[in-house]
Amino acid sequence: MPTPDPTRTPAVRGHLPPQAGGEHPALAGGTTGPDQLRPLLDTVLDALTEGATARRGPIPPGGPQHVTSRLRHAATPVLPETGTGAEEALHTLVRALAEGSADPAEPHCAGHLHCPPLALAVAADLAACALNPSMDSWDQAPAASALETDTATALAALVYPGHSTPDALVTTGGTDSNHLALLLARERARATGAPATRIVCATTTHHSIHRAAWLLGLPEPVILPAPDGTLDPAALDTALSQLHGPVTVVATAGTTDTGAIDPLPRIADVTTAHAAELHIDASYGGPLLLSNHHRHLLDGIQNATTVTLDLHKLGWQPIAAGLLAVPDTTALRPLHTHADYLNAHDDTDAGIPDLLGRSLRTTRRPDILKIAVTLRALGRQGLGDLIDRICRNAQYLADLIDQHPHLTLHARPTISTVLFRPTHATDAHVAAIRRTLITNGTAVLGRAHTHGRLWLKATLLNPATHHDDLTSLLKVVAETATAPQPEGTTPR
Ligand SMILES: *Cc1c(COP(=O)(O)O)cnc(C)c1O
Repeated sequence: MPTPDPTRTPAVRGHLPPQAGGEHPALAGGTTGPDQLRPLLDTVLDALTEGATARRGPIPPGGPQHVTSRLRHAATPVLPETGTGAEEALHTLVRALAEGSADPAEPHCAGHLHCPPLALAVAADLAACALNPSMDSWDQAPAASALETDTATALAALVYPGHSTPDALVTTGGTDSNHLALLLARERARATGAPATRIVCATTTHHSIHRAAWLLGLPEPVILPAPDGTLDPAALDTALSQLHGPVTVVATAGTTDTGAIDPLPRIADVTTAHAAELHIDASYGGPLLLSNHHRHLLDGIQNATTVTLDLHKLGWQPIAAGLLAVPDTTALRPLHTHADYLNAHDDTDAGIPDLLGRSLRTTRRPDILKIAVTLRALGRQGLGDLIDRICRNAQYLADLIDQHPHLTLHARPTISTVLFRPTHATDAHVAAIRRTLITNGTAVLGRAHTHGRLWLKATLLNPATHHDDLTSLLKVVAETATAPQPEGTTPR
C-alpha cells in the first residue's frame, strides 16, 4: 500500500490554488479534466483489482464484526487534520471497499436482485459524474435533458407500443417509481372529487407499495391472498365488487421473492370491467420485453396506467436506474411545479424546456447516460440474449436441484429466481445455512417464505455464470447443510 510522500510532486495539477498541504485537488471537467482523471483512474482500477483479489470470493468472510473492524482499520481517521492526498485516499478506501464488498460479478453472489453492472455502463457513469449535468433545469443539462427525453420515450414505447406519446420518468428505482405511480393515481382520483384512491394488491406485492400508501396518506391497501404466488383474478374480481370509489390495482411482473408474474391479461380484464386503474410493478420482469423468447410473459402490460421498470435489477446498470412509464406524457402533468430560478414562465414561453416536473427531486443525476449507452451498444438483441442466458441458467439450476438427492426445488423458475431447500431441514436450519454461507464468505443466497416454509433463494442475474458455477454453488450449500452448526449461527 503506498504511503503518502510529502515531497512528491503532485501527479495531477488542477486549477485551484495550492492548499496548506501542498496538494492541488484537480477538477474532473473541462478540456483538462480527463487528463487529471486518468492517473486517478489507474489508482482506482488497481485498488479494485487488489481488493477483489484479497477477498477471493462473493462476500468477505468473517461476518459483520470482522468486516467492520477491517474497514475501520483502513478508513480511520475519517477526517484527518491534514489530508493524505488523492492517491493514498483513493487507493486505501477503494481497496478496502472492494475487499469488503458483496460482489454480484462473482457467480456465487446470487442473493438478491442486485446485478453485476456492465463495464460499459460503469464507464458511462464516470462520464456522467465528470460532466455532472443536473436534470432540474435545461441550463444545467442541455444535451443530457434531450438524451433523457429520447431514451425514456424509447423505453416507454417498449411498454406501450402504438401510443403516440409514451413517456417515462427516470427514478432512483422501483421504490421511487411505485411511489410516483401511486401519487399520480391519488391525484387523478382527487381530480374527480374523490378523497383518495384505494390500493388493492396481493400478499406478494413489494413492501414499497405499502410505504407509498402510508407516505401519500392513502387508506390501508386491501391485500388479497396469493395462494399460488400470484394475484388471483377471481379474488380480485370479488374484492373489486365490494369496493366503491377510485381503486388502483397493483400487479407484479416478477415478484421479489419468487420471480412469479401475475396473470396480467386477466387482471387487466377484471380491472377494466370494474373501471379500476392498474399499476404494474415490473421492477424485476420489465426487461423481458427486450427478449423475443420471453416477451410473451408480459402480455397485458400495455393495459396498465403506469409501469415501474428498474434497470439496476435485470438491466445490468449500476444503481440507480429506475423508470416509471406512462402511455401518454400528459399523465405526468400533476407533477408540474414552478420555481422561478429553474423554470420561469417567460423562459418556458421562449422555448426553454421545463424539466422540473419530471421528478420530485430537484438536483438529479443524469442516470440516463449509462442506460442510453447500454441500449445503443448492445441493441435490443444483445440485451435480449443476456436475458435469455440468465433465464436458461435458472432452468439449469432448477434441473440440478430436481436431480439432487438431498435438495427440494420449490417450483420451476418463471424468470431467474430459484427457490430450494435441503429436503429434511427445519426452517431454522435453512436460515442458519444462509447465515453460515454469508459469514463464511462462500456464497450469498437470499431467503423467501412461501407455501408455509422458508426457502433458500438464488437470484441469477449474472450472464457470465457457467453451469459449473451452479454445480459448485449447490455443492457448497449441501456441504454447509450437513456441517455442524458454527458458533453464532445456531437456530434460535
Ligand atoms: C426491487 C423491487 C422494488 C424496489 O426497487 P428498488 O430499486 O430497490 O427501489 C420494487 N418492486 C419489486 C417487485 C422489486 O423487486
